[in-house]
Amino acid sequence: MAGSYDVIVIGGGIIGLSCGYYLTKQGKRVAVIEAGGFADGASGACDDMILFQSKKPGINLELAFESLELYKSLVGELDDSLGFANYGGMVLIQNQQELEVMEEFVTQQQSYGLDVKILDRKEMLRKQPFLSDRFIASTYSPMDSQAYPFAVMHKLSGKGRKLGMQVIHKSPVTGIEKDGNGDYRVSTGQNLTYTAPVVVNATGAWAGKVAALAGAYVPMEPRRGQIIITEKVPAVGETNLWTAKYLVSKLKSGFEIDSTEEEKRLGLGFAFTRTEGDSYLIGSTRESVGYDKRTTMEGIRAIINQAVSIVPVLKDVNFIRAIAGLRPATPDGKMILGEHAGMKGFYTAAGHEGDGISLAPITGKLLADMVCGTTDARLGELSPNRFAKDAKEVS
Ligand SMILES: Cc1cc2nc3c(=O)[nH]c(=O)nc-3n(C[C@H](O)[C@H](O)[C@H](O)COP(=O)(O)OP(=O)(O)OC[C@H]3O[C@@H](n4cnc5c(N)ncnc54)[C@H](O)[C@@H]3O)c2cc1C
Repeated sequence: MAGSYDVIVIGGGIIGLSCGYYLTKQGKRVAVIEAGGFADGASGACDDMILFQSKKPGINLELAFESLELYKSLVGELDDSLGFANYGGMVLIQNQQELEVMEEFVTQQQSYGLDVKILDRKEMLRKQPFLSDRFIASTYSPMDSQAYPFAVMHKLSGKGRKLGMQVIHKSPVTGIEKDGNGDYRVSTGQNLTYTAPVVVNATGAWAGKVAALAGAYVPMEPRRGQIIITEKVPAVGETNLWTAKYLVSKLKSGFEIDSTEEEKRLGLGFAFTRTEGDSYLIGSTRESVGYDKRTTMEGIRAIINQAVSIVPVLKDVNFIRAIAGLRPATPDGKMILGEHAGMKGFYTAAGHEGDGISLAPITGKLLADMVCGTTDARLGELSPNRFAKDAKEVS
């Protein structure tokens, strides 16, 4: 027996650490149990954006606003800049069809309170003079921000530990069962057992496997994303960049994107963000390749070719690293946050796909509130129980 706690959080990525931190702040005795080392999951192999422009009006956009405010307060609370920056972002538009879809989308986002607008070509080039000729317009939002995930996790873990949170690495959870007192017994690969009345499954892309250990159902698919990191370079224009192509294809059914077979297979989309260390993160792919999180020559080559075709000056910039992580994807594109029906004390907080950095603080805070007895009526649509029918079909 290795210890008993009020709450055991399984998974030490940005979501697990945020849940652990906010639970600890509310006075709970918490252990965060992580299979690997620090930042071993997607949170250690991703971009750093707190991105608004990619989100449809609805719960994800609403929670992103709240998460941004929490990030601002965490900067003071955790005594660190957290790499928090606010360069704003532009979504690049290359033809009239894309422009029409983006104009409609921007109007919806504006009515939801997002500070975003369409820039004509001249205004776009004023902010980003290094773009290739093929873009006719862009969007611009000054709200798109960023935070350095390693710093956020390091500080959540450090401050949490000061308040009494335990973070236990190299301990893959291999079993979850109930004991005679109604507590969960969580066992790890080292044959150690931890007990608590509440368990939070925050294992990202692995959340389906960990839920199954407890007899719960969580539909989760890994989506591999590869990115490259450049050497330090002077700023390339004023803002971070994305292309509209994939966003538009998601917004408008039947929209045909002019991509090669390779680009489609890799799920290639352009993301270009400046880091605190003056390098650029350039991505990315979105691949269904199971739990394989290796980088590939095909992926790296495609990212480089795409980047140079969009921002030609990048041909003179060296890239120094490539990384890949597994985004945790749910069937409806929304995270899973809540207690499982019929399993008192068993919660899941996972499935943030490409938004886990943006939504980490608000996820941790809402989860802690829920465990401590405050229910937020909006969270029904994120409940794990929305997939109950699928669970019956699977079993
Ligand atoms: C290329 C790429 C770019 C991205 N860019 C952005 C971005 O700009 N903005 C943004 O908001 N999001 C972005 N994301 C998404 C973001 O990285 C994820 O949504 C987020 O990291 C998920 O965090 P997590 O804690 O749920 O998962 P993870 O960080 O994967 O953590 C889950 C942890 O659970 C552990 N685990 C698994 N099984 C067990 C077990 N049995 N026992 C114990 N521990 C276990 C794993 O080791 C892992 O450390 C990007 C992702 C990728 C791949």
